[in-house]
Amino acid sequence: MSSVFHRIPKRNLPVAVKGEGMYIIDKDGKRYIDGYAGGACVSCLGHSEESVIEAVREQIGKFAFFHSAMFTSEPLEELASILTTDAPEGLTRVFFTNSGSEAVESAVMMARQYFVEIGQPQRKKVIGRRSSYHGANLTALSVGHQLSRRAPFEDILANVFHISPCYEYRGRQESETVEQYGLRVANELEQAILGLGPNTVMAFIAETVTGTTNGATPPVPGYFKRVKEICDKYGVLLILDEVFCGLGRTGTLHACEQDGVAPDFLTFAKGIAAGYQPIGATMVNEKIYQAIVSGSGTFKGGYTYSGHATACAAAIAVQKVLRGPGFLDHVKTTGNLLSARLNERFGQHPHVGDIRGRGMLMTVELVEDRSTKAPFAASQDLSSKIYQNAQARGLITHALTGTIDGYVGDHVVICPPLIVTSENIDTIVELLGEAI
Ligand code: PMP
Repeated sequence: MSSVFHRIPKRNLPVAVKGEGMYIIDKDGKRYIDGYAGGACVSCLGHSEESVIEAVREQIGKFAFFHSAMFTSEPLEELASILTTDAPEGLTRVFFTNSGSEAVESAVMMARQYFVEIGQPQRKKVIGRRSSYHGANLTALSVGHQLSRRAPFEDILANVFHISPCYEYRGRQESETVEQYGLRVANELEQAILGLGPNTVMAFIAETVTGTTNGATPPVPGYFKRVKEICDKYGVLLILDEVFCGLGRTGTLHACEQDGVAPDFLTFAKGIAAGYQPIGATMVNEKIYQAIVSGSGTFKGGYTYSGHATACAAAIAVQKVLRGPGFLDHVKTTGNLLSARLNERFGQHPHVGDIRGRGMLMTVELVEDRSTKAPFAASQDLSSKIYQNAQARGLITHALTGTIDGYVGDHVVICPPLIVTSENIDTIVELLGEAI
């Protein structure tokens, strides 16, 4: 009997003993092709990237860790320099955390501290979106909206107002063009700000491409441009969460590049060190940084392992691969191929309602009835069955039950390591077809 407090104790977990590129191997020697990048887009370089392993070895051989309030280190300085060099416009500073939840929490705390420092303490409200996931600490649960995970904590979560996500398949009316739909949902932000009182709102937070709660869902063109205009008009800070979709996953380094916007905060984790060390990051613009430094002098958040030297060494090695010649082109090409293969295989499937995504982050949404978009009854537990079928066939993917506004539906997220080949894609799509 296991004495580990597993998060999903009822799941039958194989014991992983080895990773090899696109594959993970269990104790019985069974090989699983990784359609979920180590889980939730973490292992973007697969499972045995020598340059990262070597960088970690080398750094641990020198020193593993010293608190970054006492010493800075070469890996810490170099990683910050790499991330800020090609960051979206204006993001000049980077604060390190251990995880995505902490990166989100730090962004929210910095936004609050900024307004306190500049003498606008009445700005304390945050607006988020329904159907978003930003992490599992109480701040991240508050700004996110994954109802099943929030449920036991509802009474102690911060009071955050949530507007509609940009979810074209279920949100766009037939009478609307895609552009009109994007503007309509973005304009909900303005209505929310006006309703709450413009001088009381500090930040709006969104995943650039949503990752988990309702499958991978990219925004429609123009949506974030309008969001940014509204934020600027009312002095509301924009936090974009790219913990899931950032750092190459969508075919560009930052997903928001494709939407033509630069936020005030950009959060990362997962692919920053590709699972070789836990690390997250909050990028922030100079205005906010300077207000904090010239105000009380220190950011009041922060964690013991922020800027952990070995984690930074791993992250540097990963970031060099991502920025290497042709790497992002490979992601674009194979991402297009994944989309094409999914459309060939499932485009006419009677129970596939939507195939969507961006780059190497795709979702297949399952429905009982294509014409009405009616989902399968939750009691059928379809997602779990697909997950188990896939696992039995040697494919790891993410089948989940999404919830939004009373609707509950089944989605499969496919986001393999970015080193995936066209043969690997054929295998993943074939096994997924069998599992479904
Ligand atoms: N933000 C997003 C968009 C995420 O997908 C996740 C994790 N799935 C988080 C934040 C939280 O990251 P972590 O689990 O590293 O705390």
